[in-house]
Amino acid sequence: MEALVTLCKRRGFIFQSSEIYGGYAGFFDYGPLGTELKRNLKDAWWKAMVHEREDIVGLDSSIIMHPEIWKASGHVDGFSDPMVDCRESKRRFRADQLFYAVVTVEGQSIGYLCLEESGDMQAEADKQAQEMKRKQGVQGTLDPVVLREYTEADPGEQALIPSPATGTPGSLTPPRQFNLMFETKVGPLADASATAYLRPETAQGIFQNFKNVVDTGRVKIPFGIAQIGKAFRNEITPRNFIFRSREFEQLEIEYFIDPDEATWPRVYREWIDTCKDWLTRIGIPEDMIGEDVHPPEKLSHYSKGTTDLTFTFPFGTQELWGIACRGDFDLSQHQHHSGKSMEFFDEARKEKYIPHVVEPSLGVDRTLLAVLTAAYCEDEIPNDKGKPEKRTLLKFHPRIAPFKAAVFPLLKNKPELVECARDVYHRLQKRWNVAWDASGAIGRRYRRQDEVGTPFGLTVDFDTVEKDQCVTIRDRDTTQQQRVPLAEVEAFLAEKIDG
Ligand code: ATP
Repeated sequence: MEALVTLCKRRGFIFQSSEIYGGYAGFFDYGPLGTELKRNLKDAWWKAMVHEREDIVGLDSSIIMHPEIWKASGHVDGFSDPMVDCRESKRRFRADQLFYAVVTVEGQSIGYLCLEESGDMQAEADKQAQEMKRKQGVQGTLDPVVLREYTEADPGEQALIPSPATGTPGSLTPPRQFNLMFETKVGPLADASATAYLRPETAQGIFQNFKNVVDTGRVKIPFGIAQIGKAFRNEITPRNFIFRSREFEQLEIEYFIDPDEATWPRVYREWIDTCKDWLTRIGIPEDMIGEDVHPPEKLSHYSKGTTDLTFTFPFGTQELWGIACRGDFDLSQHQHHSGKSMEFFDEARKEKYIPHVVEPSLGVDRTLLAVLTAAYCEDEIPNDKGKPEKRTLLKFHPRIAPFKAAVFPLLKNKPELVECARDVYHRLQKRWNVAWDASGAIGRRYRRQDEVGTPFGLTVDFDTVEKDQCVTIRDRDTTQQQRVPLAEVEAFLAEKIDG
């Protein structure tokens, strides 16, 4: 993970926001290459979910909406996480991401341990328990360490549990609910009636426009509304790079269906498969994607089913894409709070009803992190002198790679090579984002492009201009080279990128 974060900074993918002022926790900026990558991801999603389908239309709603929307949706009352503070260090934790255990040796307690959730949390807890036993000089066999969420600890236990920041027992406060919505004021009066919120999800922008789209869009159930946009959550513990930040972007679809009990399970399954399929289309290996089906007791009262598509991040397997069957909860709530009918007249069935909805909700930034994680690799290839040399590469699928190709004149001081290479470069530029690099040994130039995930390197040499009118195309992953006629370069790349 550290190597990936360093690479992202060094090559201009992602920067810490406000870095010259010491950074600002939970906010990130995308550099030149990160911006391209993010754009390609969003375009690929929009193409697959909106343009290539007949049953989904797009929307772009405002970030700040009428505050009543967040009352209707339940966010004002319930969009919160349990928070605990460490009284000593002043550090803040999410209680459901803190885990504790009673350490026992042959049934006798020797103390408590507490740590933050992570992929290797159990191994870390086992290590800490061993250490505790060793320090106390206790004889006997350590019992298995059973970790429990801090939210389950009773007040007696809370007094004994050490803070993960300082190790002092009892310095953590009891959990209390903390609303994650960012508040702001709208208009010149700064009283309570001016309070508004930055949207914590794009979904409500879709629900509040349901009638507008139905009345203007010639849509028929089943149909979906898709939206890409920023969302804001005042996360208690932003962490794991761009995985959990306070400002992020979502790709959401509300897919409206009829209320028949037989309909939603089928649509739900279709969406899980569609989402999985899209992840593989952008180059995420299937074996890094999992399905986490929420057990009935963890579902909200209105939810009929939720499945998270998970990804194996370097810090553990975590949610990437949530697919939720929300019944008619959202539209009914808006009907109730706004007093406007959210009913749909189904021509085919000759009946009126409030549609039910299946919601696939994905984070752009999390997807970008998944793509970077899956693409990052290190290997060894021969350098210009034939000696094996370590290289770092990003094996992006050509569909989403920031640069689709890089064009190199073999030598920069030979005008005929430069001119021909510039021609190729300008021609390709009209269609794709393409890099130009004329300086340094050719092997070095290849390596620079490997590191930012450019799938193809095109070299114009003396044979190109004097003999065969062909360029050498080098494949990033295999380093194999082939000669391709100048006239066929575009078709060659198009097949790899869009095929
Ligand atoms: P988590 O349990 O990780 O907080 P969630 O279940 O609250 O996530 P949803 O409300 O279902 O998340 O949001 C849908 C998607 O938006 C998530 O699957 C994730 O990809 C993305 N997302 C949510 N919160 C964040 C965040 N703080 N930073 C980046 N992406 C996020």
